[in-house]
Amino acid sequence: MIVKTFQVLPLRAPLVSPFRIATGQHDELDNVLFRIELEDGMPGFGEAAVASHITGETVAQTMANLKEAGTALIGEDISDFRSLLYSFKEKFDGNHAALAAFEMAVLDAFSRAMKVPLWRLFGEKAVKMSTDITVVIGSLPEAGAAAKDFFHRGFRSFKIKVGREPELDIERVLMVARCAPKAAIIIDANQAFTATSMLKFLKELKAKGVIPRLLEQPVKKDDWDGLARLTRSAGILVCADESVGSLKAAVFALQRGAVNAVNIKLMKSGFLEGEEIVRLARAKGARLMIGAMMESSLAITAAAHFAAGLGVFEFIDLDTTFFIKGSLARSPYLNARGAFDLSKARPGIGVQPHVR
Ligand SMILES: [Mg+2]
Repeated sequence: MIVKTFQVLPLRAPLVSPFRIATGQHDELDNVLFRIELEDGMPGFGEAAVASHITGETVAQTMANLKEAGTALIGEDISDFRSLLYSFKEKFDGNHAALAAFEMAVLDAFSRAMKVPLWRLFGEKAVKMSTDITVVIGSLPEAGAAAKDFFHRGFRSFKIKVGREPELDIERVLMVARCAPKAAIIIDANQAFTATSMLKFLKELKAKGVIPRLLEQPVKKDDWDGLARLTRSAGILVCADESVGSLKAAVFALQRGAVNAVNIKLMKSGFLEGEEIVRLARAKGARLMIGAMMESSLAITAAAHFAAGLGVFEFIDLDTTFFIKGSLARSPYLNARGAFDLSKARPGIGVQPHVR
């Protein structure tokens, strides 16, 4: 399984509407495609989802790093993919979206060559999963319309972005709870609160009858005391997202009991380090979410393989294809209700992006 050549290309798609969170917004999908080809012509595809307003990474840096790593990959044998990928890891310091794309392309080519779906590299069977759907920052009527629409389509878990206007956010959460009766409510504050203001927020919600199942990244990513305080006193699961951008951060967070859940994203840790964070979290009794940046069907499907094979994720947040227009939104193993079934997936990831 020798790598013959590679390509680095822009991967762009329009969005259905802007994807707004506390720290910024996406107006389009502006990612990077990494394609490799083995000597026998077998391709492998990887995607880097660059979220500049969250991670500080850029498309230019991601393309440059993938070109450099791709050049070094030519002539290498990928059949022992684990040691190969570990040897390349340091090339992607500070650019984990590029690391994810690099690993994704190698794993796609390897599993295609082995004639197995990608999930088979991570487990014995493909667990079925349903994704939540995100209600982005917006007006009260927008929150209501989104909740009604997706509840009607069959979604039963809603992740509500909060953090720009707390009073309005309370109303938005209540609106979603009304429009999606009995659905699970997840709150993602993207670092916008303090522990004190978040406890007040949760108390107000509780007084109105809404108790979220999970609270994601309530405070600044390095506010470990704030996270620990919420984990002790919020009475619900407190999940690290921005706080856990690497295995090192996961060790730090879990050893001091700052959180009791972790959101793992390929764009933060790649596959191999992501797997190590999973093992660590399990050992510490923490619950797991699989999440994503603004990813097209390629990376979303790859993340679904990873999660389905490992089979340990309780919270599935792989919904971004529902926010994208065009062919990059088409996900072969995901239905309109948000259910993934990879049990009969083709070899590899099973997604071949068409780029001009
Ligand atoms: Mg998040």
